Formats: sequence, C-alpha cells, structure tokens
Amino acid sequence: MDLQAIVDRIAEDIAPHRGEGRVADYIPALAKADPNKFGIAIATPDGACHRAGDAEEGFSIQSISKVFTFALALDKVGDALWHRVGREPSGTAFNSIVQLEAERGIPRNPLMNAGAIVVTDHLIDNGDADAAIERLLSVLRDHAEDSSIDIDYEVAMSESATGARNRGLAHFMASFGNLENEVEVVLSAYFRHCALSLSCAQLARAGLFLAFDGKDPVTGERILSSRRCRRINAVMMNCGHYDNSGDFAFRIGLPGKSGVGGGVFVVAPGEGSIAVWSPGLNEAGTSLVGALALERLVEHTCWSVFS
Ligand code: GLN
Repeated sequence: MDLQAIVDRIAEDIAPHRGEGRVADYIPALAKADPNKFGIAIATPDGACHRAGDAEEGFSIQSISKVFTFALALDKVGDALWHRVGREPSGTAFNSIVQLEAERGIPRNPLMNAGAIVVTDHLIDNGDADAAIERLLSVLRDHAEDSSIDIDYEVAMSESATGARNRGLAHFMASFGNLENEVEVVLSAYFRHCALSLSCAQLARAGLFLAFDGKDPVTGERILSSRRCRRINAVMMNCGHYDNSGDFAFRIGLPGKSGVGGGVFVVAPGEGSIAVWSPGLNEAGTSLVGALALERLVEHTCWSVFS
C-alpha cells in the first residue's frame, strides 16, 4: 500500500473543507490557532513517517496528552488505578461534573478531564509536580526520538488563568478524598501536560507503541505490557472523544483520542499510528476536518478494527 500517495490524496480531498469547524476559545491562547491549518502523519513499524500538509508544525495536543499520562499511571500503579477512576463511557462533555456527585467523586474514565486529573495525581510523588512533568517529557522525547518536544508555557498559563471548571472538578473530587496531592499541585501538572506542543509527525511516532501491543516496533523496546496496551486502546475506543465517541467509532472504527487544540491521534493495531491536526472543532470538541481526513484514511486502507 502506498501510504504516501494516500496521505497526499487525503490532503487534496479535504482541501475544500479547510477552515470548517470552530476553534476552541475558552482557553484564550488556543483561540489564536489558524483554522486553515491541516496536517496528517502516519508512523509505520519500519520507522517511516508519511506526512502531508502542516504535519511538521507543533500544535497544542491538549487532551491527547491524557493517553500518555494514562499509560504512565497504568504502568506505575497497575490495576489499583481502577479504584479511583472508572472505564465506562460518560456520554457527557469533556469537562462535565454531573456524574461526579452521584458516583461519589469517582470519574467515569481516565480520558475525560476529571479522570485525567486523578491520573495526573497518581504520577506525582512527594508533592513534586515538576518531577512528574519532567518524567513525562523525557518519556515522550524517548518515544518520539526527538528531544525538542516541549510544553507551550503560554498555553499552560492561559489555561490556568481560565481554569475555573477544572478547579471545580478537582476540588469536588478532593472533597470525596479522591486526590492525594493538593488541588493546585495536581492542576499545575495537568495544565502543563495539556499544553504539550507536538507536530503530527512527532505525535504519531510517540504513540506508535500503542499500535504494536505496547512494544515500539522501530527500537524493539517494550514500553507497556500487551495487556495494558489493549486496555488503553479499549478505553480510547469507548471514551476517547467524550459524547462523540460512538459517532467516532461508527465513522472511523479506530481507537483514538481528540484534543481541543484540533489534534486527533488514532491507532491502527498492527499497522501504524496516525495523527491529524486541524483546529476547527465540532460540537463535542473533536477536530471536524481531522475526523473527515480519518474517515478517508479508513476508506483507503480498510484499517478499521471492525473490518
Ligand atoms: N486542557 C483542556 C481542558 O482541560 C483539555 C480539553 C480537551 O482537549 N478536550 O479543558
């Protein structure tokens, strides 16, 4: 299969749609993104990366970072993670608080904001949020074989300055005893990991191990057990796009995670990992043009896990 021809074709096909969707503006620094941007990259086990459009340009990966913190926490604490966060789809928005009261401060899943905040809490030892972020950065740089990956501190500060909802979620969970560290310590790490800036090419490479049962097919390094890798992919399939997860599975049929920066990361098990970016979002906060591009990709490759 000529994947380079496929990504070139997808970039051509979606060109008339560039600029569609609504750029997230609730984090002021994100509102500056150019809605006409579009990038796609596919990382494959031979170490190649097929790219088209703005695939080399860094963007705010936002909630896609939750996949990497989830993987680190599962690796660190194992099944104990499930005592403090569930693994069911929420059917609600990424920043929803409604279920938390009835479910006694246990968020539905690790990929919605409340769940990701609990996951981040697991990564902080001795109240040291900086060390947790350093570790995450070093892991991502290793996975992507790219030491230039970093956090966009302007985005992190902008998110913190407007973070009333996430503070609300965190305090609410703390009231049920579901945070071990101070709320502001956990959020300082959470805002920073959401503000990670990666290009499509870096993101696809960083997550390649998730398409290969937890083992990086290029370096041969085992990053996660195959059982845990399968579980992450299962949670991505059911919960990766909040109340849009059903539609995403219906249209694309690959485990994935969206972020309000307009990125979407998806895994085609045994084939490769894909990152797309286009800042205009649909109602549920998934990149509108990014999802169109992924639909085309699955038509061209038949990579849906349901085929
Ligand atoms: N950092 C964003 C927030 O917490 C992440 C949301 C997202 O990408 N869906 O609001």
